[in-house]
Amino acid sequence: MFIASTELNQKSQALLNDWQRYQSSPSFENFVELAVSINSFTEFLIDKGFTALHHASHELEQVALSLFNVEVQHPIPQVAADDLNERILALIHMIENYSVANSNLTERRQEPQPGLAQDTHLTRCVWLIGHDKEVWSDLLTQLGYFGKSVKFSSWDDPLPENINNDPLLLLDISGLTDGEWQTRIKALRQQFAVGQLLCLAIRSDFDQLQQALRSGCDWCMPEGTATHTIVAQILEMDDRQEQETFRVLIVEDSMTASVFIQRTLQESQISTHAIQDPYQVLNAMKQFNPDLILMDMYMPNCTGVEAARVIRQHDEFISIPIVYLSGETNIALQVDAMRLGGDHFLTKPFNPIFLNAIIKSKIERYRCLRRSMYHDSLTGLLNHTSGKNTLDTILSSVAHENGDLAVVMLDIDNFKQVNDSYGHPIGDQVIRSLAWLLKQRLRKHDVLCRYGGEEFLIALPHTNVGKAYHIIDRIRQDFAQIRHPYNNAHFCTTVSGGIATFPDIQTGDALIKAADDALYQAKHGGRNRIEFSTRPTSSQGGLFNP
Ligand code: GH3
Ligand code: MG
Ligand code: MG
Ligand code: MG
Repeated sequence: MFIASTELNQKSQALLNDWQRYQSSPSFENFVELAVSINSFTEFLIDKGFTALHHASHELEQVALSLFNVEVQHPIPQVAADDLNERILALIHMIENYSVANSNLTERRQEPQPGLAQDTHLTRCVWLIGHDKEVWSDLLTQLGYFGKSVKFSSWDDPLPENINNDPLLLLDISGLTDGEWQTRIKALRQQFAVGQLLCLAIRSDFDQLQQALRSGCDWCMPEGTATHTIVAQILEMDDRQEQETFRVLIVEDSMTASVFIQRTLQESQISTHAIQDPYQVLNAMKQFNPDLILMDMYMPNCTGVEAARVIRQHDEFISIPIVYLSGETNIALQVDAMRLGGDHFLTKPFNPIFLNAIIKSKIERYRCLRRSMYHDSLTGLLNHTSGKNTLDTILSSVAHENGDLAVVMLDIDNFKQVNDSYGHPIGDQVIRSLAWLLKQRLRKHDVLCRYGGEEFLIALPHTNVGKAYHIIDRIRQDFAQIRHPYNNAHFCTTVSGGIATFPDIQTGDALIKAADDALYQAKHGGRNRIEFSTRPTSSQGGLFNP
């Protein structure tokens, strides 16, 4: 997560400007601007994962919103103004401190070089803070197989000065009194506005958990939690997807209304495209690919309801949310509009904060729905169909650039025995652990797909057979080291793989077939190995003895 300090400073400056504008000209309109600015700032902080700053901003937002109603006269009462002033200045002060501390900020997740899939993923650093590293040696070893190296620091020593600003801190609070650990966690929260804190070995009663969360922890793992559960939690915390910008298409015949709506949404980092002519709506949808349509009700030659019905005739747009924004206050007409293809009705003049909240929640649900259509629920990877489609898309872009592409089929060895010996749920957990390992090790733009039960399809763009072998074989070795828990013991299992490459093989289907044939050879040759359809030449960097 790359936190742009300048963006943060610009946002906080904008907030301060809006507050000063209201102070010099305390109108209702200026107060609305201020409230929108605070709301947008809070959402920005949530989005970027600034846990501590977001807390302060959220409180400020609550105070502002409580004053954001018609009974409050402007200027707002002096007591309220003083309170707001104090909160805004305190927040700005926290941001200044953060910016100074991070002025030498570097990018955490550097984009890998083309053609160089990483086998040591450049993720943020992980620290374990406790009394005794040895107690956690099992956890540290298991995390190591997923490519996570954990540094240790004792509670008695201060953390090094140059620690990455966005760390994941594992806090072993055993042996500390309640007062001690709460004070220390609060101090760490202050120091790391963005990082995540995972509290280990806490007592699981309500009060303890509440105190830990209140002190600033993001997650708690009660004492006695099994190692694999902690590993799973750490991998989940690291897997937070960076949210793609929301896109809204505005269909509105009035230029003035349209500009005003665009400005409001852009304040909340929502990207917009506006059209005045509803007849252009299908074209605009194809080009802009929106997550939601904000539809005016009355336009020349075509009403919003008619436009929505036309949109719904197309299968690919059957579930895109359509929100009407209109001066229409007749409830019966509103209900009819929803019946005929709309999802929500907002009346003008609209409350900008409410508009943002409705739009965001509709889009989040819509994306969730789409996600479940294209991704596999057990692993979160692409499912069979979307994996194959994505491979075809990537292949045509690689071919266009005269690049390389490696396609890999992986299959867990003797998996039937795993199910038979340990049960289906444990088998599922083994599948998930391979998926996690792949997510940790491969690049953002590599294709990762659960092709079948315990079979994975991988595509590595701009990677030749030698590099692909190097990366995948390393994953094979590490997977074999992962210990899967069963009752109070554990077992290990292995994976085999086959690699085929473009341009030797030209189509997606043929690449999959060739990788599958190579996988068959690997199985035939004794399993726990990687084979390829064409042996790499020395110029492909790969003479080795698999
Ligand atoms: P090989 O080394 O040749 O790949 O042997 P194998 O036992 O792994 O191969 P086989 O294809 O015969 O068995 C795959 C098994 O995977 C059979 C099926 O019951 C199981 N399986 C498929 N999907 C799932 C799943 O989602 N969860 C679990 N737990 N098992 C699954
Ligand atoms: Mg109109
Ligand atoms: Mg198998
Ligand atoms: Mg199989």
